[in-house]
Amino acid sequence: MTVRTALITGATGQDGTLLGEHLVGLGYRVVGVVRKDAATNPAGRVAGVDLVAADLCDHVVVRGLLDRWQPDEIYHLAAFHHSSEDHSAGASPVTSRQRTLATNFLATQALAFAVLESGAHPALVFAASSQMYTPAGPCDVISESTPRRPSTFYGHVKSWSTDLLAQLRADLGLRASTAILFNHESPLRGAQFVSRKITRAAAAIRSGRAAGLEVLNTRARVDWSSARDVVVALHRMAVSQTPGDHVVASGALHSVEDLLEVAFGHVGLDWRDHTTVRGAHSDNALQGDPRKLETDLGWRRAWTFENMIVEMVEHDLHSG
Ligand code: NDP
Repeated sequence: MTVRTALITGATGQDGTLLGEHLVGLGYRVVGVVRKDAATNPAGRVAGVDLVAADLCDHVVVRGLLDRWQPDEIYHLAAFHHSSEDHSAGASPVTSRQRTLATNFLATQALAFAVLESGAHPALVFAASSQMYTPAGPCDVISESTPRRPSTFYGHVKSWSTDLLAQLRADLGLRASTAILFNHESPLRGAQFVSRKITRAAAAIRSGRAAGLEVLNTRARVDWSSARDVVVALHRMAVSQTPGDHVVASGALHSVEDLLEVAFGHVGLDWRDHTTVRGAHSDNALQGDPRKLETDLGWRRAWTFENMIVEMVEHDLHSG
């Protein structure tokens, strides 16, 4: 049997790591592309994944990657995340926008045109975001046909890539699909995100390593799913005979308060005894409609909201 090859950008991020694991488990040869200037040594978190450093915005380099590895599937997951737009990581607002544009658009176009030039026909799956929309009501349901209305630079850039790929798909037959990803979590989620802040705090307070937690808005509601379910969806999209765009979401909203209940409840604590609440107001919220993904690609969630949070708390309890 021929071994299929997958190329993953952002391979050491949350989704790249989990997707790498999933595909290695399915018998794929997996090549992960990491930043050329990655500060950490890309030793590779997943056994069986070859990591290569490359500048994804350099068209010649990207073309060389495709020629060398001849992937059947390409997953463009590398991103400079929207939370970095506030330049808290030390980058100026201009630099952070340049980096957002580079990874979320320039790299997308380099990959797309390199594929078209190569004459090969790998599937290209791009990780877009619910940030391409701005909620207009308390439960604004988003499907693939909802007009996009970003309100962050990151959301705009994701939307530009989505348009470009749809255009090249319609015009030149590029086998490109865009995953409209809603929030998804796992123990690998960055510590700056609210889910992880809470699961880490619950574990630390239970273990006597922290005294309390400050939460900004307990009534904020989010469509959260497990990153493990999301990577299965990305793979389904890559192997589909019909490339297209799909909302990848749980289809349900949970509040930060729900998350606190599950996380602290799992370690036998009442979150109200350990949390300083700085706000509790109902904002508008986006809920994804995953029915196209379920109907067309047979995707089903395996992880409930509760199981996902419990897995994160367990991880945080045992990782000190
Ligand atoms: P992470 O932040 O965990 O991972 C992003 C990865 O991209 C990191 O490994 C980062 O490497 C890498 N990267 C950044 N710049 C470059 C570059 N120039 N070249 C190569 N790699 C680069 O994100 P997730 O795994 O959570 O998200 C995956 C994708 O899904 C992203 O595109 C994101 O925008 C999108 N998404 C995610 C959502 C979520 O809830 N997780 C929701 C909506 C969309 P390094 O650490 O070295 O910077």
